[in-house]
Amino acid sequence: MNYNIDNNINRKKTKQIMVGNVKVGGDATVSIQSMTNTITEDIDATVNQIKELEDEGADIVRVSCPNKDSTAALKEIVQNVNVPIVADIHFHYMRALEAADSGAACLRINPGNIGAEKIKEVVAAAKANNISMRIGVNAGSLDKNILEKYKEPCADALVDSALQNIELLESNNFDNFKISVKASNVHTMCSAYEKLSNLTNYPLHLGLTEAGTYISGSIKSSMSIGKLLSHGIGDTIRVSLTADPVEEIKIGYEILKSLDLRSRGVKIISCPSCARQAFPVIETVKTLEQRLSHIKKSITVSIIGCIVNGPGEALNSDIGVTGGGKGTNMLYLSGVTDHKISNEDIVNKVVKLVEERVESLND
Ligand code: SF4
Repeated sequence: MNYNIDNNINRKKTKQIMVGNVKVGGDATVSIQSMTNTITEDIDATVNQIKELEDEGADIVRVSCPNKDSTAALKEIVQNVNVPIVADIHFHYMRALEAADSGAACLRINPGNIGAEKIKEVVAAAKANNISMRIGVNAGSLDKNILEKYKEPCADALVDSALQNIELLESNNFDNFKISVKASNVHTMCSAYEKLSNLTNYPLHLGLTEAGTYISGSIKSSMSIGKLLSHGIGDTIRVSLTADPVEEIKIGYEILKSLDLRSRGVKIISCPSCARQAFPVIETVKTLEQRLSHIKKSITVSIIGCIVNGPGEALNSDIGVTGGGKGTNMLYLSGVTDHKISNEDIVNKVVKLVEERVESLND
């Protein structure tokens, strides 16, 4: 449904790069990433997890390449999945060369910890395979020279490290990269990205590192990534959670959906419920969320317990239900009252209407 949204986000237009077939930066849609947590050499498990992430809407997936067996496995993995794969490389420049030859769409490296000499070979491999890189600066693994200078992994230290790495790649005539400056502290992370965004036009990969468990990590990521995105900063995001990576994609979409930067699946607008509720709002929404989890098209459903806010929310929804007295609730279609329905009928009726709406969108 189309209605006016007060979306005043003025996104910074960065340089655009490609990660496989996914545009990152410029006027591209903000992409969502996650990372596998399987043993990369276990090809079946890794491919299965990547497919689960694809089903959930992942645009890009990163895979760890800590050893030679993993870069060998990468070759088979990329042939069996649809999303572009970023190879995560630390320290061993040979892994970067192998990953580039194995079909990685992008190399995530920290050029500083690979060394000025070896980086030449990595750049040559990226150019030969026409793939991009991510400079991945992380507060937990800053170079010694930076830590000596700043004494702590503050925002300025992260930015300084990123600038040194940019210089290293540019001095090798390479500018096909995006950058991340991750920290586990919300203020440090936001400040680092804000400073870096003022100093460079390369696309930025946003993420809070070591964000924590499902609830705290989701909240911290939403606050930090959401703050930056709402100020126009950021081209691709990864929510890091100590949880199933599929949850990272779900939360990533929720962040982008809440800022009206992406839409996918059913967006349920629901009230917290109170003594005025005319039907059990919490149980109804919980059941609807499960029954509608297979829907990928963008549809807005409002489920509101009473007439205090129901009719207003229904105006902005494709399908709306507002609680009414004596078990007669009002069903709205595209903001217009349609007919009354009983408490028992709400779930089945809404699921049927959503599925019909999806069907008509597919026609
Ligand atoms: S919309 Fe009605 S039922 Fe829901 S929280 Fe508000 S007053 Fe309570």
